[in-house]
Amino acid sequence: MKVGIVGGGQLGRMLGLAGVPLGMQFRFLEPAADCPASRLGEIIRTPYDDPEGLERFAQDLGFATYEFENVPVQTARWLEERVALAPGARALEVAQDRIREKTTLRDLGVPVQAFASISSASEIAAAVERVGLPAVLKTRRMGYDGKGQRVLRGNGVGVASVQQAWDALGRVPCILEAFVPFEAEVSQVAVRARRAGGGAHHAFWPLTQNEHRAGILWKSEAPAPCDRDGSLASSARTHVQRLMDELDYVGVIAVEFFVAHGALVANEIAPRVHNSGHWTIDGAETSQFENHLRAVTGLPLGSTDLRSACIMFNLVGKLPLSSRVLAQSGAHLHLYGKSARAGRKVGHVTLTGQDPAALQQAAAALAAALPWDASGAEPLAPDALAQSPAHLR
Ligand code: AMP
Repeated sequence: MKVGIVGGGQLGRMLGLAGVPLGMQFRFLEPAADCPASRLGEIIRTPYDDPEGLERFAQDLGFATYEFENVPVQTARWLEERVALAPGARALEVAQDRIREKTTLRDLGVPVQAFASISSASEIAAAVERVGLPAVLKTRRMGYDGKGQRVLRGNGVGVASVQQAWDALGRVPCILEAFVPFEAEVSQVAVRARRAGGGAHHAFWPLTQNEHRAGILWKSEAPAPCDRDGSLASSARTHVQRLMDELDYVGVIAVEFFVAHGALVANEIAPRVHNSGHWTIDGAETSQFENHLRAVTGLPLGSTDLRSACIMFNLVGKLPLSSRVLAQSGAHLHLYGKSARAGRKVGHVTLTGQDPAALQQAAAALAAALPWDASGAEPLAPDALAQSPAHLR
């Protein structure tokens, strides 16, 4: 069974690692040389929208999927006409545009923060009026890991600050969102597959709690400690199931939420396997990568039950000493075969353990020993840096 994956980054690599034991073969469409997925299958090294490259990529493929959400929609549509592509192009269209994403969620009854679109200077005052301040200005498209964002909060912030931030972002179409003073950030990673006889099979991994540094994911913990009575997980499942059904989704999806005043506020949709689900490789009966491939290729889904509580740390900017990480009992090291560069995700470590107190203790020791260099990450506006909470620095 040959599966085509658009993108050959670490997510493509981990999909490959999960699929090889199932007898799958892979072909990746990836313009970059020596990408993380390069040892997992054939690489078609061309731009994502090159017609000749796409022809070669699609040749004899049974199934196709993608590992990042900025795949050009025309590429997805072209593939959809020739091979079984999942998730479909519609999920990409929704996730690529923050206004469309928030509108889709709101129309489904999923709580989202107040937001407004800004595509010209004349819309700024009305957007501020509608959303209020503090707020976050984000580019509608192509933002990730906190890039393309400005936080607007603190003394003296007003319409002029939003204007300045919009200028700094290059006057591209943006979304102004209310700043959410959250207690925690969580994500729901889920999978949906079509059943042979009709209908759909949905499965959900335990809710994961996430911590970011400078907008980049630093730590994920499952099950989420902030969800003491399970009520957050239960609403997250309801929201994500509604979204997956609306999109007639096939594959793994992740939805990130803020927890504010004890309730969920949806922030972002990732129509793909997600960094906050990496712990499932070591801590769940079936990983997000394996279940994504099962869904995409029409195989039955595996159980998403927890095998062990997990705490995952991303390795950003620098590689750790493997011997030091592996000396920690319960540590599972995953390196992506990338050279280290500031702000770049080069691997992750998942700690597993049955005893919660011992797991927390091990995580604190490991966290202190892990390198982190996000200095290449795009800086926040100076006024935001002075005012923003620790999680945004
Ligand atoms: P995003 O690219 O939307 O996932 O944002 C990256 C990170 O910035 C989030 O995980 C939050 O930590 C922070 N952030 C983004 N939007 C907001 C918001 N509206 N209110 C508060 N913090 C935010």
